[in-house]
Amino acid sequence: MRASPAKAPVPGDWPADGLERVRACPVCGETGRHVLYEGLTDRVFFSAPGVWTLVACEGCESAYLDPRPTPEALPLAYQNYFTHEAPTLPAGTETLAWARRLKRTLANGYRNRRFGAHFHPASPLGVGVAWIPGQRVKLEGALRYLPRVIPGGVVLDVGCGNGDFLNRARAIDWTVVGCEPDPEARAAARALGLDVRAGGIEGLMGEAGCFDVITLNHVIEHVPDPRHTLECVFALLKPGGRLYLETPNIQSDGHRRFGRSWRGLEPPRHLVLMNWAALERLLGESGFGLIEHHASANVYPNLAASSRAIEFGEDSREAQPRAGDYWRSYGLGVKLLWDDRASEFVTLVAHKPMTES
Ligand SMILES: [Zn+2]
Repeated sequence: MRASPAKAPVPGDWPADGLERVRACPVCGETGRHVLYEGLTDRVFFSAPGVWTLVACEGCESAYLDPRPTPEALPLAYQNYFTHEAPTLPAGTETLAWARRLKRTLANGYRNRRFGAHFHPASPLGVGVAWIPGQRVKLEGALRYLPRVIPGGVVLDVGCGNGDFLNRARAIDWTVVGCEPDPEARAAARALGLDVRAGGIEGLMGEAGCFDVITLNHVIEHVPDPRHTLECVFALLKPGGRLYLETPNIQSDGHRRFGRSWRGLEPPRHLVLMNWAALERLLGESGFGLIEHHASANVYPNLAASSRAIEFGEDSREAQPRAGDYWRSYGLGVKLLWDDRASEFVTLVAHKPMTES
């Protein structure tokens, strides 16, 4: 069965003993499903072998691979993966043109006020950034909607990659811990002096109740048992702690538009693709209380450009958005004000109750 429309070559077959069947939805347990796409290949990094089928759950409308890579074979999917670039921090202003210098000074003012940071130079007028469409989301999103820094507060980033976010969080005085299965990415993070453990979240279970904030940024779609991962997160958080989570949204405008070429599918690394309602239900069942939505249209232009490149068999990492992609993102941004179900990503903050019921 080699019905893929991709122009790129498929780098061989996935080993047969490295596959496992998935009989029920990993999100809700429902067994009813239908085929969404057959013949999917790795058209993002052109490195993972295999041809994949994505099915849609008839219970919660999540999508999942069946069959999928076994945990033992999964490293095959991560050759040429991308988490190795050098991290970035808000830089000094010496080399910036005056307009960018002003922007940075205002942004620092906002960060200092909102997160309890101490960046220089900063202007108190920066609080006005909150009123510029898209800017507030950009600044908040870069710091994953952290609360104001808590003295002695600890942030855990699960799947921390090269440590970019942890480096930012440390710069505003959080104590930071990461875990990362990829040895190269881990080495890059450790070179920054970060406390990064090998492997996944399971390795941290001896530290239950120790973390104020846990972040899962584009991680939950990579794990075989998302319910178990969220239960681990819940146990690791202090009472009143919070989880930041972002993952591609299978009900997004981009998926509707680009279908099997949508950048968010990324087979075979993305094992499960959720939507707002499915994820919220799963979080509720895992014990979380209040859930804040942080839908944004900011990422739409880049995702549209990548999806278009995938559609034409080109390298999506080189793709540049078109003017039309920006216009569509403005329209989407307006729509999201009253209905966020079509955002490209599900982005939320879920709170662990102060007292467990
Ligand atoms: Zn389901």
